[in-house]
Amino acid sequence: MSGGGSIERRCTHCGDAFRVTPNRAHEAKFCSAQCRSDHHMSARTDRFQYVRAIGPEQLAQLTRGQGSKFWGKVNKSGPVVREGLSPCWEWAARIRKDGYGTFKVMTAPGFHKSVSAHRCAWMLTDGPIPAGMLVMHVCDNRACCNPSHLRLGTNADNMRDMAEKGRGKGGGPPRTRQLVERIVVLLMAGATRALVASTCGISRATVDRILRAERERASGTEAA
Ligand SMILES: [Zn+2]
Ligand SMILES: [Zn+2]
Repeated sequence: MSGGGSIERRCTHCGDAFRVTPNRAHEAKFCSAQCRSDHHMSARTDRFQYVRAIGPEQLAQLTRGQGSKFWGKVNKSGPVVREGLSPCWEWAARIRKDGYGTFKVMTAPGFHKSVSAHRCAWMLTDGPIPAGMLVMHVCDNRACCNPSHLRLGTNADNMRDMAEKGRGKGGGPPRTRQLVERIVVLLMAGATRALVASTCGISRATVDRILRAERERASGTEAA
């Protein structure tokens, strides 16, 4: 085969030599479409692993770098959910289905990690969140980013907290937010109440009671 005025290049991915016409030489980086795609795939995997490996200190530092952008998305005159509590600072940007706000923390050029807004608020005011710790809401308003409404807790603290709050309402069975969410997710996925009850290890009557309480909660009777 003749070079025919072509130019030799080395593949960025496999290192093999290949030839291109001079007018394509500036853009030729890969010997084949396969090498191009493998290369981009592995770059993506590397960045993914990099983002996953970010520790609490580094995440807090990256978040601090975007503090003004973050606070620009917070509405500091939110509702007063309980007497004696200062107003909630509600996240005014994207809210996840579960009710928590989410903020994109830039981690590398062109790359980000989605972090819950209240966790960002904690990192911006109190520093890194120790591994495995939750940032809990004193106000129970998941969209809230008011640092004075946030506290650190373990998962066990959170479960206890939610169970106590569940018990406080009309003497129903102790229930946790996780259980309620699990029930709703199962029902939305098309499960029957009987299946939900057996999956969650509770009776059908309990499923009904929890759903009734949820509907009351959703329609705002909780404020009373
Ligand atoms: Zn190649
Ligand atoms: Zn709040």
